[in-house]
Amino acid sequence: MPVELLPALNALPGLVILVDVDGRIAFASAAVIPYNLVGRERVRSSRLRRLITDVRESGQPQQMSYDRARVEGAERDEFRVHAAPLPEQHVLLTLEDVSEERRLDKVRRDFVANVSHELKTPVSALSLLAEAVQEASDDPDAVRHFTERMKVEAQRLATLVNDLLDLSMLQGEGLKAVDPIAITDITTAVIDAVHLLAYSRGITIEANVDESIVVFGEKSQLVMALRNLMTNAVGYSPEHSTIELIAAHNGEVVEISVRDHGEGIPEAEQPRIFERFYRVDPARSRATGGTGLGLAIVKHVCENHGGDCTVISAAGEGAMFTMRLPAFVDPSVLVDTLDDDDLIAEADIPALTNRLEEEPSA
Ligand code: ADP
Repeated sequence: MPVELLPALNALPGLVILVDVDGRIAFASAAVIPYNLVGRERVRSSRLRRLITDVRESGQPQQMSYDRARVEGAERDEFRVHAAPLPEQHVLLTLEDVSEERRLDKVRRDFVANVSHELKTPVSALSLLAEAVQEASDDPDAVRHFTERMKVEAQRLATLVNDLLDLSMLQGEGLKAVDPIAITDITTAVIDAVHLLAYSRGITIEANVDESIVVFGEKSQLVMALRNLMTNAVGYSPEHSTIELIAAHNGEVVEISVRDHGEGIPEAEQPRIFERFYRVDPARSRATGGTGLGLAIVKHVCENHGGDCTVISAAGEGAMFTMRLPAFVDPSVLVDTLDDDDLIAEADIPALTNRLEEEPSA
């Protein structure tokens, strides 16, 4: 291959290695180096060297999968390798790093396995209960008892399916409608939704909400996320305790926190609780009617809004979850700050806003 064409190989996708008739490297793209695949003159892997020889001798292109750890014991990089013969017995190798693709495949497979497992529990309970009802058909008390339990299991199934649908909608669609929303529209809807549950456990909700806050996003998603945090706070708190709902500005960020005085979450578990189906104590979660998807939903809602959700907690000392969202900024103020060299003093903003309203083309 003419020397002046070698830099063009950099334009090929993936990692590129050109090997000459003697097996020496004639060209390797810069991205190859960190993968520890090439030595000073030669491709280090004996499997890749065999592939190169085969392709040179047969004159036919070949493909294969190849995986290798950069250092011993580390996670293996996985590649899809293409080898093509070139004139003068050169061979061109291109390696596509498919590690991320494979990791996502595994996440998907694990998810399907988890969902099937989660669905199996209420479905087998329902089938056992149906048999029990059949056998107890002459005993109205027993029938009543079993059908009550059937209702609980059917409800569990319905909640799980709803949470799964919510999660898949959140992951797939992002935000459908983006509007400025008064914080009280969100907090009032959530307090209304969890009020009865809290009342049934003698739990008091204390709200401390800065009513001037406006967030930018999709109301139904934000209500869903905050309701999940509040439902957890109620579920994981002792009876007759207090939970607090706090919303405040922190610079350009709005922080919506839910704080409880329940059992808390050990520090070692905290990084995992936002994963789908991860529970610190599965039996406890089942008792609260949890699906293990609540916090995964919260995380996705925050991410869809350009924010995040954090937790501060220690075992036995309650938990505080905080959704951090970008505050809504009035577009007329945004116009003012377009030019960094000409920042307008805050006092001038109302006057300018008026002017912008009078001259919509401004
Ligand atoms: P679940 O439906 O099990 O509540 P979540 O995704 O909402 O699922 O929460 C995941 C896990 O995080 C829960 O099973 C529980 O172990 C823990 N957790 C969540 N919120 C709290 C809280 N306020 N206090 C203590 N533990 C909590």
